[in-house]
Amino acid sequence: RTPANAFLDIRSVAKAFGGNQVLEDVSVQIAPGEIVGLLGPNGSGKSTLLNVITGFTPADAGSVHFDGRRIDRVAAHRIVRTGMARTFQLPSMPAKMSVMEVAMAAATAHHGVFDTLVGTARARATERAARDKAAHLLQELLLTPVRDLPAAAISGGQKKLLGIVCALMAEPRMLLLDEPTAGVHPNLRRDIVAALQRLNAQGMTLVIVEHDMHFIRDVCTRCVVLDRGSIVASCRPDELASNDRVLQAYLGT
Ligand code: ADP
Ligand code: MG
Repeated sequence: RTPANAFLDIRSVAKAFGGNQVLEDVSVQIAPGEIVGLLGPNGSGKSTLLNVITGFTPADAGSVHFDGRRIDRVAAHRIVRTGMARTFQLPSMPAKMSVMEVAMAAATAHHGVFDTLVGTARARATERAARDKAAHLLQELLLTPVRDLPAAAISGGQKKLLGIVCALMAEPRMLLLDEPTAGVHPNLRRDIVAALQRLNAQGMTLVIVEHDMHFIRDVCTRCVVLDRGSIVASCRPDELASNDRVLQAYLGT
């Protein structure tokens, strides 16, 4: 049933909140190495679909397979261990931790706290490795200058970058990003684009919820468009403007 090359295979997913049918018969297949833009007007169900895929919201119907494994009944923290990580539309940061500590805490979340608690030599080695990895990722995403500041005190754009760092601490093979550049300064936006392209060149598959058409044209190999909970298009970025169902979704006609 799973197409041979589908890395992520979403089949007939449905989700309602009360009487509000937010996702309806949503099917999407993503091949390894793709950079897919997930588009659609506000409220069309993009974040909900990301939540269903990553185990934060249970679907009412349908299935999700990742890398040949069924994951739609699997808890979010276990899905991360299968190689899929995500970022959030509005990252919230703990008030009393530094940027570095937040990145380190993400490693603990991914590897479990047991080793850390027992304080063995292995735990110390694990912590050292996590610290090195965090330092490297903070460098990659231009956060080294603020690594000792409280995470709550950095800019909204830097919080988005830190969210990406936290997701990457899990060393995922697929990364889902919810509006990574919304509210981000244009200079920082270019850096995010470059970082995502580097990750993809290293083999990472990306799904990106994004509104900025320049970003989409620069980054995405394919776009999937949601309108009121249904997929209405799957096409190249340069085909969006001439797609009637895409125009209809955005113009509401
Ligand atoms: P998008 O990310 O495309 O803007 P969302 O997936 O956030 O859209 O929301 C789609 C719809 O689902 C909206 O009508 C929203 O109010 C509703 N919704 C999302 N999450 C919940 C929730 N936890 N409880 C109730 N309704 C929700
Ligand atoms: Mg959203």
